[in-house]
Amino acid sequence: VKRSGGRDYQFFHPSMAAAAENRRRLENELRLAAERQELRLFYQPIVDIQQNRLAGAEALIRWVHPQQGMVPPDDFIPVAEETGLIQEIGLWVLETACDQLQQWRREGREDLYLSINVSGSQIPHGLPPSAVMEALSRRSLPPGALVLEITEGVLMSDMKQALEWLQALRQVGIRIYLDDFGTGYSSLSYLKRFPVTTVKVDKSFVRDMGQDSSDRALVEAIVAMTRSLGLEVVAEGVENEAQLALLRGMGTRYGQGYHFSRPVPAGDFSAVTERLETL
Ligand code: C2E
Ligand code: CA
Ligand code: CA
Ligand code: CA
Repeated sequence: VKRSGGRDYQFFHPSMAAAAENRRRLENELRLAAERQELRLFYQPIVDIQQNRLAGAEALIRWVHPQQGMVPPDDFIPVAEETGLIQEIGLWVLETACDQLQQWRREGREDLYLSINVSGSQIPHGLPPSAVMEALSRRSLPPGALVLEITEGVLMSDMKQALEWLQALRQVGIRIYLDDFGTGYSSLSYLKRFPVTTVKVDKSFVRDMGQDSSDRALVEAIVAMTRSLGLEVVAEGVENEAQLALLRGMGTRYGQGYHFSRPVPAGDFSAVTERLETL
């Protein structure tokens, strides 16, 4: 906003006022969204691309706004984080994901796991390991059924706290995925220091793999490195057959992306499951 010369709209510009007003409205509506049951989880399959079978799913939040329709998480999760609403939303995500796991088990899908996204601001007090364990045990779910996805940023803010939080979860058998891998700093040292089980290669690298040989080399290096560390890899953003073939060739174990399915509501997931069964 700091532009010099010409008209001076540094202190007042109608669009700035409008943006602030929008933001206030969004905040208030988000506050009510949970109790009005406007939040939903969508589910996107994670596929074992070596064995051609469905392995699990990632839960991705959606806000079905009464006027604006589907609001994507990138438009409201940052607001939820800044206002602290993420604590409440995060617990709702945990409970809803566990309900879904229980539902799949009733349908005979004991093999499916579900991963949920956890914001840095939820760690450690917003999502204490005891609350996670409780949500699982209340439904007699094994800890292996749930995965928590975190990003490097989480580990950067308060390392000691983050490490304790991670260790407590790992001790009881809950797996941790390191999301958006390759986009931040010091990724390598974090992998050594923090007890994560799996790395998710960011979709930006997968997207350009076909055209960009340096992206291809990067993905290949990540796959090789994680393997030598005894970690699993999920490649996200797999959109076509060519990317899938490259990833398979590199020995990538898991893939996720529009090529298999977009994130879908719970009710549509069994149809997706059936389609993937015939891979
Ligand atoms: P993310 O965790 O990195 O999730 C992957 C995003 O990539 C999702 O966007 C997903 O819909 C999208 N995606 C999946 N496959 C493809 C593909 O083949 N191509 C492309 N271009 N995109 C693909 P989405 O659902 O809009 O979520 C955006 C971000 O919002 C997530 O990024 C995550 O950081 C955050 N988020 C989503 N749900 C939650 C939640 O329950 N809690 C928190 N704290 N954050 C969440
Ligand atoms: Ca994720
Ligand atoms: Ca990601
Ligand atoms: Ca992300």
